Amino acid sequence: MDKENPRLIEVLARHWGFATLRPLQREAMDAALAGRDTLVVMPTGGGKSLCYQVPAIVRASLTVVVSPLISLMKDQVDGLVACGVPAAQLNSSQSGAQQRDVERALTGGALRLLFVSPERLALSSFRQLLGRAGVTSFAIDEAHCISQWGHDFRPEYRQLRELRHLFPNASLHAYTATATERVRRDIVQQLALRDPVELVGNFDRPNLTYRIVPKRDEVAQVEDVIRRHRGEAGIIYCIRRRDVDGLAAILRGRGYRVAPYHAGLAPELRRAAQEAFSKEACDIIVATVAFGMGIDRSNVRFVLHTGMPKSIEHYQQESGRAGRDGLEADCTMLYSPSDAASWKAILSGGAEDPNAEHRRAALENVERMQQYAEALVCRHKALVEYFGQIYDNGNCGACDVCLDHHELVPDSLVIAQKIVSCVVRAGESFGIGHIVAILRGVNSEKLLQRRHDKLSTFGILGGYSKEELGDWISQIVAQRFLERTSGLYPILRLTPTSRSLLRGLRTVSLMRSADHEDSRDDRAWIGVDHALFDELREWRRREAESHGVPPFVILGDSTLRHLAAVRPSSLERMRQISGIGDSRLSTLGPALLTVILDYCTKAGATFDAPAPPPLPPRQPKIVTASRSQAYAAFRRGALIDDVVNLTGRARSTITGYLADFIVSERPRTIERWVDREHYDAITPVAARLGTERLKPIYDEFEGRLSYDTIRVVVAHVVAQTASQSP
Ligand code: ADP
Ligand code: ZN
Repeated sequence: MDKENPRLIEVLARHWGFATLRPLQREAMDAALAGRDTLVVMPTGGGKSLCYQVPAIVRASLTVVVSPLISLMKDQVDGLVACGVPAAQLNSSQSGAQQRDVERALTGGALRLLFVSPERLALSSFRQLLGRAGVTSFAIDEAHCISQWGHDFRPEYRQLRELRHLFPNASLHAYTATATERVRRDIVQQLALRDPVELVGNFDRPNLTYRIVPKRDEVAQVEDVIRRHRGEAGIIYCIRRRDVDGLAAILRGRGYRVAPYHAGLAPELRRAAQEAFSKEACDIIVATVAFGMGIDRSNVRFVLHTGMPKSIEHYQQESGRAGRDGLEADCTMLYSPSDAASWKAILSGGAEDPNAEHRRAALENVERMQQYAEALVCRHKALVEYFGQIYDNGNCGACDVCLDHHELVPDSLVIAQKIVSCVVRAGESFGIGHIVAILRGVNSEKLLQRRHDKLSTFGILGGYSKEELGDWISQIVAQRFLERTSGLYPILRLTPTSRSLLRGLRTVSLMRSADHEDSRDDRAWIGVDHALFDELREWRRREAESHGVPPFVILGDSTLRHLAAVRPSSLERMRQISGIGDSRLSTLGPALLTVILDYCTKAGATFDAPAPPPLPPRQPKIVTASRSQAYAAFRRGALIDDVVNLTGRARSTITGYLADFIVSERPRTIERWVDREHYDAITPVAARLGTERLKPIYDEFEGRLSYDTIRVVVAHVVAQTASQSP
C-alpha cells in the first residue's frame, strides 16, 4: 500500500490553501518525485498544473515548463508568485536586464519553476544555461501540439524531440487535455518518453450542462442565454468571421457589451479583446475558433455555439473553456443540419488542406460531430464514450436529453413510416430539404418539374413545420431506419431495417424539444451571500487592476463564494477557506477582512457561518411544464396570483416568467399586471437609468416599489424598444 506523501499535502496547504489532492494528482506527483517520465491526460480544469508545481517545491529543484503561449506565461508566473512559489518566465518580450535577473536567479538555484516557449529551448546558449542551473525535469504543457493528429499542431513543438538526448538525466512530463489514443501514442513517441507512467483522468466534466437545441431564431436564442447569465462571462462561437461580425453588431445594438474576435481582425484589436476579457472589463466574446488557446479565465459561465463545430474534439475543447473553476457552467449548441453542409463545403474547398487523407479525416470528423448532435443519448455519456471511456452514471441530470427537454411525439411510428415511405416513392435520390418539401406539400418548381406533387406522400405531413420534420428525419437517421450518404449533397436512402419499420415490426421514437424550465443549477450558491460575492468581486477587480494582473490570478470564484458564505471574522477562520494559503492570507487577508467586516456591519449579516456542504451529486431533475403553463395562462390574461396557485411555484419565479413572457411575446399593454400609476412612475426612471440593472431603479424609489413590479415594467419597456427597432 502506498501512503500519501505528507510533504505533498503540506506544500499544497501552505502555498495553495487546498486540503486534498484531486484524482490522479497524487499518482502524477509520486511518479514525478520518483524521477519517472509521465504522460498525464486530464480534461481542462482537471488540475494538471499542480502535478508538476507541487513536486518542484517538494524536491527543491528546477522544473522547466514549456508552454505554447507567451501571453499566458505571465499570468501563470504571477499566480505562482502570489502563492509564494519562486517562479519566473524567460522570453523575448522581456528587456535585457529582466532576462539577466532571471538568469542570475536560475544559476543561483533560487527558482523552482521556469516558464519558456519551445523556441527558446532551441537556443544553444539557453541549453547551456539550463545545464549550469541543474534542471531536473521538464513539464510540457499542451503536449498535443507536438502531434499533427491533434487539433493544434505547432511545428515549433517538434524541436522538443531533442530534450531526451540533450538532458538524459532529466525526467520528461507531458500534459494534455486531448484524449484520443492516436495523439497520445504520438506524444510518447515524439518526446521519446522512457517507459512513462500514463495517467488518464476521467473525461467527464460533471459541472458542465450540455444542451443541443435546434436552431430557430438564432439571435433570440443567443439573447436567451445571455440573459440567463447577466453579469457573468461567456464565449459565443460562430463558424465564420462574417457571422462573428454580424452577431457582435446586433448584440451591441441591443445594448450588450461584447467584443468580436477572429483571425481577420488587426492583431491589436484581438489583443485588446482578449485582454479586456481576461481583466473582466468585458464579459462576452463573440469569436471564431481562433479564440481559444490564450484563454485562461476560469470563471466562464457559458459557452454558446451558434453553429456546429467541425469535430467532437473541437466541441470538447471549446465547450471545455467553461467552468474551469469547477463551478457550474452552461454549454449550449444551436444545431442545424445545414451547419454540417457548410463545413463540408469549407473543407472540400481545397484551400484548407491539400492532403487528401487529411481532408477525408476532416470530413469524417464532421460526420461524427453531426451524429453526436443528432443522437438523443445523454451528452455526457456520448462525449466520454467518444474518448474511449465508460460512463455509467445513469441519468446525468446535466444535459438536454437527461433533463427531459425532449418529449416523445405520440404517433412517432406513423410519422416515421410516412417519412420513410416518402423516401421510397421519391426514388432514394433526394436530400432532406426536398423530402421535407414533399411531405409538407410545397409547390416548388423543382418539385413540380419532377411531378412529385403527384406522389401519394405529397402533403401528408402538411401540419408540421419544416424544422420539426427536418429534426425527425435526422432522428430517424440516427436510429438507422434511413441512411444519409456522405459528401457535399447528402441524399437519403433506405437501410436494411427500413422495410421492417414500414411493416410496423419495429418501434421508433421521435422527440420534440419541450418548452423547458430554466435548469440553472443553483446548488453551488447554497449559503452564499450574493451581494457580498458581488462586493468581493469588485474588490478583486480593483486589486487586480492595481497589480496589473487578471482577476483570477488574485483569487478564484470558488474561493470568493466560500468567503461570501462563511464571512470569516478573523484571519484564523479565513485560513480554513479553500484557496487561501499562507501567502495569500498575509497579502490579501487583512484587506479581505475589511471588505467582509464593512459589508456585514452595513447589511446586518452574521460572521463565521459554517462552510457550505460539499456539492451533493446531481439528481435527475423532474422537469415540470410550469413555464409553458404559465405562458399559456398569461396569454389568457391570468393574474400573477392565479398562476402562482395554478403552478404551485414561488411568486418570484412566476414574476420572472411574466417578465420573460412580456419580452418574448410583447403584449401591447401590461395593465392587468401593474397599476397604471406605477407604470408611469417607473418608465421615465428606466429611460434615464437604463434597463440593464434593476437595483438602481429600485434605489431611486427608496424601497417603495417592489423588485417584482419594477422587473415587469422594465420587461415591457425592453419589449417596446425591441419592437420599435427594425
Ligand atoms: P488544467 O491545467 O488541467 O486545465 P488547472 O491546473 O488550471 O487545470 O486547475 C484548474 C483549477 O482547479 C485551478 O483553479 C486550480 O487551482 C484548481 N485545483 C487544482 N487542483 C486542486 C486541488 N487539489 N484542490 C482544489 N483545487 C484544485
Ligand atoms: Zn445526460
